[in-house]
Amino acid sequence: MSTRAFIGLGSNLDEPAEQLRSALRALDQIPESRLAAASALYTSDSLLPGHPRFTNAVAALDTSLAPLALLDALQGIEHDQGRVRKERWGPRTLDLDMLLFGDQVIDEPRLKVPHYHMQARPFVLYPLAELVPADFRLADGRSLAQLLQDCPFVGLERL
Ligand code: AMP
Repeated sequence: MSTRAFIGLGSNLDEPAEQLRSALRALDQIPESRLAAASALYTSDSLLPGHPRFTNAVAALDTSLAPLALLDALQGIEHDQGRVRKERWGPRTLDLDMLLFGDQVIDEPRLKVPHYHMQARPFVLYPLAELVPADFRLADGRSLAQLLQDCPFVGLERL
């Protein structure tokens, strides 16, 4: 059975836009999975002052993998693309977050879905909104329209 997962992509090192394009190709190569759609790329300031701007996007991935197997695959892609991360929210070549996995709410030590910070991050919510209907709700029932209303499009640039 195929499930639609939404993956958040972010990079602020080593030509971020190219990192994201390469990651999108890699997502499409995950076994039993197919890249269904990708948002535009967006840039925004790092959460840490003085760090390079981030480039972000969201991908819709149809997969037959179980959630933890998909997480393993995402971490493999991060590793392959030479992720460098010395501090939280610091520079990294590639960050992949599992935002949503169908209508599942997952609370495991390695995997929390819906992703815990997504409701406060315009660089996740606005690209996600490109890929879903206007009345979309997260697995825990929250309305995306409401989350967008509470999270203004500030500091974001759509490329
Ligand atoms: P981060 O700093 O965001 O890259 O966090 C990576 C860690 O978060 C890994 O150890 C994952 O096991 C854990 N994690 C928990 N929930 C998620 C999720 N929904 N997507 C990606 N990583 C997650």
